[in-house]
Amino acid sequence: MQGMHKILSKGTAMQNPILVLNCGSSSIKYALLSNDSSERVAGLAENLGLDTARIKHTDLNGEKVEISLAGANHQWALQKILGLLAAYKPVAVGHRVVHGGREFSHAEKVNDHVLAEVKRLKVLAPLHNPAHALGIEAVEKIYPDLPQVVVFDTAFHQTMPAKAYRYAIPKDLYNEHYIRRYGFHGSSHAYVSHRADSLTPHNQANGWITVHLGNGCSLTAVYDGKSLDTSMGLTPLEGVVMGTRSGDVDPSLHIHLHRILGYSLDQIDTILNKQSGLLGISGISSDMRTVEQAANEGNEDAKLAIEIFCYKAARYIASLSCALPTFTGLVFTGGIGENSASIRQKILQNLPHFGIKANLDKNAELSRGAEGSFHQADSLLQLWVIPTDEEYQIAKETKEVLGL
Ligand code: ADP
Repeated sequence: MQGMHKILSKGTAMQNPILVLNCGSSSIKYALLSNDSSERVAGLAENLGLDTARIKHTDLNGEKVEISLAGANHQWALQKILGLLAAYKPVAVGHRVVHGGREFSHAEKVNDHVLAEVKRLKVLAPLHNPAHALGIEAVEKIYPDLPQVVVFDTAFHQTMPAKAYRYAIPKDLYNEHYIRRYGFHGSSHAYVSHRADSLTPHNQANGWITVHLGNGCSLTAVYDGKSLDTSMGLTPLEGVVMGTRSGDVDPSLHIHLHRILGYSLDQIDTILNKQSGLLGISGISSDMRTVEQAANEGNEDAKLAIEIFCYKAARYIASLSCALPTFTGLVFTGGIGENSASIRQKILQNLPHFGIKANLDKNAELSRGAEGSFHQADSLLQLWVIPTDEEYQIAKETKEVLGL
């Protein structure tokens, strides 16, 4: 879908554009979207805080430029980004915020309370929320009158019932320390499930399992536009196998690694979040393209990594179906879900009991931003590939909150 957006030509005016920011600990992804989201200018500031800090920006002519900003921090980089976009006069900023805790079930306009909560929730997202807060404060300093909205990754999942979001642990841990399942990738699951609804004529509510497979991977059961259960939990570590994250392991693994092998908590955190998943099993790469290539060349570890990745995704599809009053179909998205027909096919091969009949020719045609279905007419479940568009979703929710 992104590839289909019109690249701006010099002098194009954008009506009421929204700036979407995703501020990470050392990077800022940005996109300026026109009112109907059909036009956008996008870029990335990376390596912030280092000598190699730079901005990769697509200029007014659609040409890529790279601007070196040695040693730049968030505020400096944002000053430069806002300068590059100033001619378009953004009317608001929508920030992607990873954690909204228990309080936020919708996007919110930034005020002192909201900003304080984003900061406080670093207890649940130590790497992400402080960086989001830095971004909000930097924009506030540069353009104090520009309205800002925060769109939480967790908010879409606030419709989950207690049976899905509570862990079977003492209730005080939930009541006093907010320990529960939250879920992530909310903007992506919201976007693709709404899009699937709009592409499917229906008289009754649809029940989808949205399968987001990128570097991070999560699946969500969405019924009538609402998340009823999802694979990620208190943190994005829970769930299926990802690029570098293990997904589910026996919770006692932490104790075993600490008590028996003497690993520190920081080491265990690094192992499970950064050295596991496709990378850990294959020993080659966290990138599915590289792992698929190695598997095709006969590497047994790469083959096993793919086998486990697909089996775990299928197991989650089967278990999440318990959350749905009706099961309409599967929606694949994310870099792997959108592009790899062979991974989609291998996941479906692990689901023999759902009456799924895939059209393999159509499956093979769906990649590089193509949107479409690939089920046969008599398949009990529909099968869709829908490229995600988190920026569109964040801009949409920003406008809704501000009444634009
Ligand atoms: P992020 O989660 O960081 O947004 P993406 O959604 O872009 O990441 O997904 C990145 C993943 O998508 C990588 O594992 C990459 O190898 C995979 N990917 C992209 N294109 C293909 C492809 N043609 N075939 C298989 N995997 C692909």
